[in-house]
Amino acid sequence: MSSEKPIVLVTGGAGYIGSHAVLALQNAGYEVVVFDNLVYGHRDIVESVLKVELIEGDTNDRALLDRVFASRPFSAVMHFAAYAYVGESVSQPDKYYRNNVTGTLTLLEAMVAAGIKSFVFSSTCATYGVPKTVPIPEDHPQDPINPYGATKLMVERILADFDRAYDFKSVAFRYFNAAGADPNGRLGEDHQPETHLIPLVLMAALGKRDSISIYGTDYPTPDGTCIRDYIHVTDLAEAHVLGLDYLLKGGDSARFNLGNGNGFSVREVIEMARKVTGRSIEAIECDRRPGDPPALVGSAEKARSILGWNPQYADLEKILTHAWAWHQKRHG
Ligand code: UDP
Repeated sequence: MSSEKPIVLVTGGAGYIGSHAVLALQNAGYEVVVFDNLVYGHRDIVESVLKVELIEGDTNDRALLDRVFASRPFSAVMHFAAYAYVGESVSQPDKYYRNNVTGTLTLLEAMVAAGIKSFVFSSTCATYGVPKTVPIPEDHPQDPINPYGATKLMVERILADFDRAYDFKSVAFRYFNAAGADPNGRLGEDHQPETHLIPLVLMAALGKRDSISIYGTDYPTPDGTCIRDYIHVTDLAEAHVLGLDYLLKGGDSARFNLGNGNGFSVREVIEMARKVTGRSIEAIECDRRPGDPPALVGSAEKARSILGWNPQYADLEKILTHAWAWHQKRHG
């Protein structure tokens, strides 16, 4: 890549959403350096698929961040590095506040010191808590019901304060349920441990798990199971590039939902997985999982109108088809 291309530091670029964003940034002509502590990220993905420089480090390491920012003229930071297991955030909140809040604050301080003032942040619909209206608009009250959501909301507030104090501009994306995989089969979802519905259903289809558990069948929804808004990870990644373009053109700080505005129940997802894989998947009805709101569906009109975001894979069948291709390749 030529040196005139803007250089972006992508924290968490070895993880699921971050790695797809690196591909999208490369496609859009950005030069990328990945910063990842590799606790959950995958070195092999960065080295053999993304083929970009990997700095192994922690966002709490200010001295390292200062060296990184002094090493070349970064235009912006895209920040995906975070712990994101809701259940673990309840049992080990200190781990989440230390990494997601303190680590991000350290990163932001290092950016301000280095004069880098454009930041794209990976936030979450978990900042809303239990929705009062569905689909959820961006101005819905934010009242998280778990420490994970609280850490992301705290960072959103820090970002608003940094804008006032330091003219620091940020776009925060509140994701609904990221799912699917790179349509060309280069990347996909590979969490250790895995807790998410779609990869677990596909592992059951592959015979790597005996069955899939349905967490709760007595929710106030048409079939009694939880409803979520599944958004293709490649569409999410595209939104990040648009958000970065917007900031680099002088856009003001803004918050955007990223969802499809369509909800699918757990039973519907399992049924679609049976259709896409052609395999029988045993589903076992279980108790509710603590902390799960009945329905989370987002309105993403703002991202469409302001950023020109136009999701290409807004269809559960496509999401599962791409995820299935990846799972067969990675785990089959
Ligand atoms: N879920 C489930 N069985 C599982 C994993 C998840 O029934 O093995 C449900 C979960 O209760 C939620 C939905 O599937 O209603 C999506 O969960 P996931 O963990 O994928 O994402 P979340 O909505 O928690 O971010």
